[in-house]
Amino acid sequence: MSGKPTYEELELRVRQLEESASILSRVESELEAVNQELEASCSQFEEIVARSNQMAVEAEIANLELNQIFNAAADGIWVINSDFTVLRINQTFLRFLGADNHGAVNRKCYDLFSIPLCHGPKCPLTRIMTGEERIEYDIQQVCGENEDEPPFLLSVTPLIGLSGEKIGIVGNFTDIADRKKVEAMLQEANRKLQYLAIIDGLTQLANRRRFDECLEQEWKRLKREEAPLSLIMCDVDFFKLYNDTYGHQLGDDCLRSVAEAIRQSVKRSTDLAARYGGEEFGVILPNTNKEGALHTAEVIRNEIKQIKIVHSQSKVSRYVTLSLGISTMIPSQGLSPEALVKEADKALYTAKEQGRDRAVVYIPD
Ligand code: GH3
Ligand code: MG
Ligand code: MG
Repeated sequence: MSGKPTYEELELRVRQLEESASILSRVESELEAVNQELEASCSQFEEIVARSNQMAVEAEIANLELNQIFNAAADGIWVINSDFTVLRINQTFLRFLGADNHGAVNRKCYDLFSIPLCHGPKCPLTRIMTGEERIEYDIQQVCGENEDEPPFLLSVTPLIGLSGEKIGIVGNFTDIADRKKVEAMLQEANRKLQYLAIIDGLTQLANRRRFDECLEQEWKRLKREEAPLSLIMCDVDFFKLYNDTYGHQLGDDCLRSVAEAIRQSVKRSTDLAARYGGEEFGVILPNTNKEGALHTAEVIRNEIKQIKIVHSQSKVSRYVTLSLGISTMIPSQGLSPEALVKEADKALYTAKEQGRDRAVVYIPD
């Protein structure tokens, strides 16, 4: 039954339309709000993406720079994680290893090189992972294949992860060839210095300083042992005349020959033959009594005769001769090494007085 709508019906219809319009308007404004939120989120997201892109670029640049610094370093460097995998290795170290070892990253360190302490309980990685903070030692060769390889100082320190725990090691190889060279030179210089400090330059026998030291030492030792210590003082006869006749240079040659003859005559390892000064020599004979010392003195005197150094101006022989004075003591309280020297000197003086070319044992007045 349709007909013209009544006024009430029209009014209701209008109200309904007005309500729909208001709902529509509310929905529109809510949509607008959602839209605004979406736009805000979108720009935030874009900002985050831009920032992370920027960070990725910065990380890339940092990595690039780090690699350049890493490879430009004069030291060889590797980084190894806790399961022996090589994480980084620089060009300098690859050069030390030789060309065959390129592509070392991600390989196991023990497949690439073997340094002292590898493959054992003292493995630097194991030691660092189990508590040590730094290991340093000198090594001669990294892999043993490159003959020109210099000696290195290896320093191993922990590789620390983001949360502060040890996750591997960093090894640093410093070429110490120059340091080693200087050390070797120093050692050699020290050796020479020590030698020069105790050796007489002309005759290569022990010098006066060594003679004094040895006499003091043996005196103390034999005092404890209560054993005899003998001393022979030897002096070239008419040596001034020898110099005057043949010149100083031949005089020096003569002293060298006399020194060599004395050296040859003194056999025991504890004996010491020394140049006492000028043309005078001293022979220290530990654990040797008077008879033994006299025997050695005669051996020396005869040895000099045997080498027959012509001395035309000598008043006792056609050849260079020696006079020798001998003293013997059992070191004891109240006596001193100087007393032993004094007595040998007196005996030597007696030998000169008695006509030279002889050995005389000290006899107390
Ligand atoms: P004597 O038989 O009494 O010992 O007489 P001598 O001429 O050997 O003793 P003197 O002490 O008068 O002379 C020692 C000489 O030794 C004098 C000195 O020039 C010489 N002489 C000392 N040291 C050296 C040296 O290193 N080289 C040379 N060529 N001569 C030296
Ligand atoms: Mg003299
Ligand atoms: Mg003399």
